[in-house]
Amino acid sequence: MESMEHIAEAVIACRKCPRLVEFRESLRPRYRNGEGWCKPVPGSGTNPAGLLVVGLAPAIGGANRTGRILTGDKTSDFLFSCLHEKGFSNLPYSRSRDDGLQYSNIFLTAAVKCVPPDNKPMREEVENCLPFLRQEIETLKGLKAILALGRLAHESVLRTILPDGSRKTGFPFSHGRRYRIGGIDLYCSYHPSPRNVNTGTLTREMFLKVLEEIKEKSLFS
Ligand code: SF4
Repeated sequence: MESMEHIAEAVIACRKCPRLVEFRESLRPRYRNGEGWCKPVPGSGTNPAGLLVVGLAPAIGGANRTGRILTGDKTSDFLFSCLHEKGFSNLPYSRSRDDGLQYSNIFLTAAVKCVPPDNKPMREEVENCLPFLRQEIETLKGLKAILALGRLAHESVLRTILPDGSRKTGFPFSHGRRYRIGGIDLYCSYHPSPRNVNTGTLTREMFLKVLEEIKEKSLFS
């Protein structure tokens, strides 16, 4: 079995998707004060971890800038204010790699490890990145629940945990749904993007309810 450190090294060195390699590096001039990670972003958190959170991909103003997944933008502000309230982190925000954040029983990653133009990875790019997600899931000890943020993350997780990885019918994405697959509870949530939050598609109460259910039904049952 790989270690998380080895997986992270392989992720950071990856150049498998030419379009994404070009795009992530082209963003460097946008960033100021020496910021700008502009490389693939590996997962981050504890191992063991009872809960794995899977997002879509690094964002231009978030992880592609800061170098830590779900860090440095409005999405991470929303996410960590909720994770902190439910005891998964010592801080109610995740702003930079040296902000003092400590995780508790949680690992976070993305289905696609490089920032895609318009937040839309191509099918073959999702395919290329699946082995990293699979390795992370296989390497996490004590995993009881996976929370997929959005449809693409949900379908990517299904591809990695179903016995026949290509079958994903029968487990439709729907906010708040829970599926029991191979001893792991897979939960669905709308992605906490500014668009979903600002339009009320995803409210704080909705997201906290999912986290509470994860704790009650999967982590401490
Ligand atoms: S998206 Fe994944 S597979 Fe493609 S270059 Fe980035 S790390 Fe590699």
